[in-house]
Amino acid sequence: MDIIIKNGCIHELDKHLEHSGATKLYIITDDNVGRLYMDKLKGIIDDYTMGIYILTPGEESKSISTVLSIYDALIEQNMDRNGIILSLGGGVVGDIAGFVASTYMRGLKYIQIPTTLLAQVDSSVGGKVGIDYGGYKNMVGSFYFPELSIVDVQFLKTLPRREITCGLGEVLKYGLIWDYGLFKYTVDNMKNIYDGDMDILLEIVERSVAIKKEVVDKDRYDIGLRRILNFGHTIGHSIEACYGFTHYNHGEAVILGMIYESNIAYQMNLIDEGYFEEIYERLKGLVEPIKFDKDDIEKLIHRMKMDKKNIKDRIALVLPVSRGKVKLFMDVNEWLIAKSLEGEWI
Ligand code: ADP
Ligand code: ZN
Repeated sequence: MDIIIKNGCIHELDKHLEHSGATKLYIITDDNVGRLYMDKLKGIIDDYTMGIYILTPGEESKSISTVLSIYDALIEQNMDRNGIILSLGGGVVGDIAGFVASTYMRGLKYIQIPTTLLAQVDSSVGGKVGIDYGGYKNMVGSFYFPELSIVDVQFLKTLPRREITCGLGEVLKYGLIWDYGLFKYTVDNMKNIYDGDMDILLEIVERSVAIKKEVVDKDRYDIGLRRILNFGHTIGHSIEACYGFTHYNHGEAVILGMIYESNIAYQMNLIDEGYFEEIYERLKGLVEPIKFDKDDIEKLIHRMKMDKKNIKDRIALVLPVSRGKVKLFMDVNEWLIAKSLEGEWI
């Protein structure tokens, strides 16, 4: 799998298509991204026979019915194994397009062009594809690696502010689990990032992708080391779910998760007060932490017990142990988790 990360690298797409020998393309995008970038993309690849599928933006599109309707469209277009599926959009578009590419005719070539910060630093590496099912996120899916990911930070210029925050959740996570320097660089350049400074965005995307690649390469099928990528996600996911996936986006929930989980690490004496305060002070400006009440805490902990990492109903958490380093703890005291969520320290 190849990945190109640059400012303006979308223009390299035709060169790569030529190389692949494909003649037919099927583009999957969403309404917003299509409106902003479809003309530009068509300008770059106008020599190819093209089909286009435009999704309604948002998580609701990540369903089996969307997938079925794309299969129908592909059959209608006589798409065969010489064709390429090309996704242009955020995580939702990428997850669906990748899932379709991995299953239609037992797999078509797939090129991914992620257009959100979250998708660029997260789903562009790791090969996870899938859809939501039965009320659960990412319930059905598989691993399928695109033959090429084109990560062009230029797309981030039009990204709404909240979507930048969403991606920053993952960037800051890479810093806290692997590279404290990246954490520092990101928090010190926060204003420039929101102002769309391309050089800084390129730097944080490159460094994040390199970290994810290193972690994933060491653990391709998600059985060991890769779990550290879950920092902030155990509590984050439960917050996301308890608010019905609408109040907080994924990255915002992860930012909250990292704050509460760092507080737990501080309570356990894994990190000193200085480091906890640093994380808290830097992150609270992005998403405001809350003091959860008793009922909420019960719901949140109940949800955490359903996490894949757990053995029986003991809660496993990835916790910081020093600057830029985390470890997986298999049985974290529930009382400490509750105490952190109560938020006396806020
Ligand atoms: P995520 O990558 O956060 O999972 P989604 O696929 O849900 O993202 O995309 C988040 C929102 O941002 C969607 O409404 C999508 O249409 C929009 N979007 C994606 N990329 C861009 C972009 N480059 N500019 C503006 N809006 C975009
Ligand atoms: Zn995440």
